[in-house]
Amino acid sequence: MSQATVKTPLSGWGRYPVVDAVLARPERYLELQQWAAQASLARGMGRAYGDAAISASGTTVLTSRLNRFLAFDADTGVLRAEAGVTLDEILQVVMPQGWFLPVTPGTRYVTLGGAVAADVHGKNHHHVGSFSAFVTGIELFTSTGQFHCSAIENADIFHATVGGMGMTGLIGEVTLQLRRIHNDRLQVQHVPAPDLATVLELMADPARDDEYTVAWIDCLASGAALGRSVFMRGHHASREEGGETLSAPLPARRRLPVDLPAFVLNRASVSAFNGLYYRREGARQQPFLSGVAPFFYPLDGIRDWNRLYGKPGFVQYQFVLPHETARDGLTAVLGRLAQSGNASFLAVLKRLGEQGPGLLSFPMPGYTLALDLPLRSGTLTLLDTLDVLVSDFGGRVYLAKDARLAAAALPAMYPNLSAWQALRSRLDPDGLFVSALGRRLEMC
Ligand SMILES: Cc1cc2nc3c(=O)[nH]c(=O)nc-3n(C[C@H](O)[C@H](O)[C@H](O)COP(=O)(O)OP(=O)(O)OC[C@H]3O[C@@H](n4cnc5c(N)ncnc54)[C@H](O)[C@@H]3O)c2cc1C
Repeated sequence: MSQATVKTPLSGWGRYPVVDAVLARPERYLELQQWAAQASLARGMGRAYGDAAISASGTTVLTSRLNRFLAFDADTGVLRAEAGVTLDEILQVVMPQGWFLPVTPGTRYVTLGGAVAADVHGKNHHHVGSFSAFVTGIELFTSTGQFHCSAIENADIFHATVGGMGMTGLIGEVTLQLRRIHNDRLQVQHVPAPDLATVLELMADPARDDEYTVAWIDCLASGAALGRSVFMRGHHASREEGGETLSAPLPARRRLPVDLPAFVLNRASVSAFNGLYYRREGARQQPFLSGVAPFFYPLDGIRDWNRLYGKPGFVQYQFVLPHETARDGLTAVLGRLAQSGNASFLAVLKRLGEQGPGLLSFPMPGYTLALDLPLRSGTLTLLDTLDVLVSDFGGRVYLAKDARLAAAALPAMYPNLSAWQALRSRLDPDGLFVSALGRRLEMC
C-alpha cells in the first residue's frame, strides 16, 4: 500500500481555504480496499472550488494513478474505466470514434469519480439531466464492503453516492453511456440580451431552445441594464452542417506563470472587459461552427487560470432558484452584487431541468447562476447576505463550488439531507469518509 506522507497544505481550485492534508497516491486498484478501511476521502483533479476534496481527519487519497480504461465498445458507446480517468482522457479516446460525453461540466480536467461524486451538470441539463443519468454502474469501496451500484442495483447507495461528494466511500470504477456525434463541431448562435427579463425570456422560449443553452451575464451592469447578457445556444453539428472530421481537443498550451496582483481585477478593468465582451460576442448572431473546446471549455485554454485572482484566491458562488422565484431572486442577487462593486467577470446563467434521484444532487428545475469573486475584505460577508436571499427564494448553493456556507443554511437548501445522513451512517458507521466541507457543514 502506498504510504501516506507528511501534512501538505491543500486547497481546491479557488485556492481557498487552505487545509493541512495527509496525502496518498495508490498505484493499484485494490489498494482502495485498504484505504476504505480507514479515515480517508478520494480526490480527483481538485477542480471542486472549496474544501470538498480534502479529508477532514484522515488521508486524502489521490486517484490520479487509478486511471486505466477497462473497456470501450465503439458500437454501443459504453465505457468502463477507473475513477481517476479524466474527461479529457476520455475525449481523446472516444471522439475520433464518433462518441462524446453525454453531459459535460465547463472543464474537461475532472475525473470520472469527481463527476459522479458531484453529479455534475452541463448546458443540456434541461433536456437530459445530470451526469448520473448516464452512469450505468459504479464500484464503491466502503468500510463495510465493496458494492456494485446503479439505479437498479443497490439503488439507495447509488443515489446517496451521486452528488454525495465522496462521503459515502471511494468510487473505484465507473461505467458510462456516451452519446454519438457525427463530427467535432457545434453549430452555435449568440443573441444579445439587454437585461435580465430578456435573457430569461430567451432561455424559456421553445423557439430559441437548443440542445445546449447558456448565458454569460455582466454582473456589473446595473439599473435598466441589470442582467445584461449574451445568450448562447448550440448543438452537435449534423454531417450537413459540420462535415465528418472527428478530432479531440488539443491540450492547453498557455499557462499563467505568476499570480496576478490583486489590483489587476478591479471594477474598472472588469467593467471594460464586460463591455467589450458583450459587444463582440453579442454581435455573432448568425449561426457559426465552433470547436468543442471554445464552446464547452473556454477556460481550459489557460492551464492555471485560477492564478488570475492572485495569492488570496477566489470563491465561486453558484446557486439555483426555482422557476417561480427566479426572476425576482436573480434581480435581488444581481442588484446586491452590482451595488457591492465586487467584480466578477465570469458569471454564467443556465437553465436546469428536473431534479434527479441523487439525494444531494444540486440541480432543481429553475435557473442557476455561477460567478467567481476574488477574495477581498467584504467578499465573505457579501456572500452571507446572498445565502439569505437564495434561501428565502427557495434555492440552494452548489456544494462542489462551496468554500464557506454556514451549516445552519444546509437543511433548508437540501431537503433530502437527513435521508442521505441516515443512509451514510449505515454505510459508514465509523464516520471514516468525511471531507473538510462535510465537517464545516456538519453533514456527518
Ligand atoms: C472551470 C470549472 C468549470 C466547472 N464547470 C462545472 C459545470 O459546468 N457543472 C458542474 O456541475 N460542475 C462544474 N465544475 C465543478 C467540477 O465539475 C466538480 O467540482 C467536479 O467534482 C470536479 O472533479 P474532480 O475530479 O476535480 O474532483 P475533486 O475536485 O478532486 O473532488 C470533488 C468531489 O468529488 C469527490 N471524489 C473525487 N473522486 C472521487 C472518487 N474516486 N470516489 C469518491 N469521491 C470522489 C471528492 O471527495 C470531492 O468531494 C467546474 C469546475 C471548474 C474548475
